[in-house]
Amino acid sequence: MHELALAQGMLDIATEELARHNCKRLTLLRVNVGAMSGVVPECLEFAFTSLVQGTVHEGARLEIVKIPLKLKCVCGAEFEADNGPYDLPACPKCGEVFGHRVLAGKELQVDWIEGE
Ligand SMILES: [Zn+2]
Repeated sequence: MHELALAQGMLDIATEELARHNCKRLTLLRVNVGAMSGVVPECLEFAFTSLVQGTVHEGARLEIVKIPLKLKCVCGAEFEADNGPYDLPACPKCGEVFGHRVLAGKELQVDWIEGE
């Protein structure tokens, strides 16, 4: 379960940022998780919850913002695909399956941190 390592990394970023602002306790951590990032949001949430348990950050909220997969076809059409990261979606305009450029959906980043 690599979500545990990811959650740890995010928590590290958050605590570092909190220290910079003289905060001790994390209250909210918002992360962007792209559809193609390979991360299962439920697993990430579970990992995060178990990590903060028993620490000063216990009770901190993890907000996961799911970023849909957005593709650009060779014909220029941009479209969102929600049928998962492993299917090659056809372009709704020309039907092309190959050669799409990924505009969004690979994100995995800390977007917002709140503390006290
Ligand atoms: Zn197309």
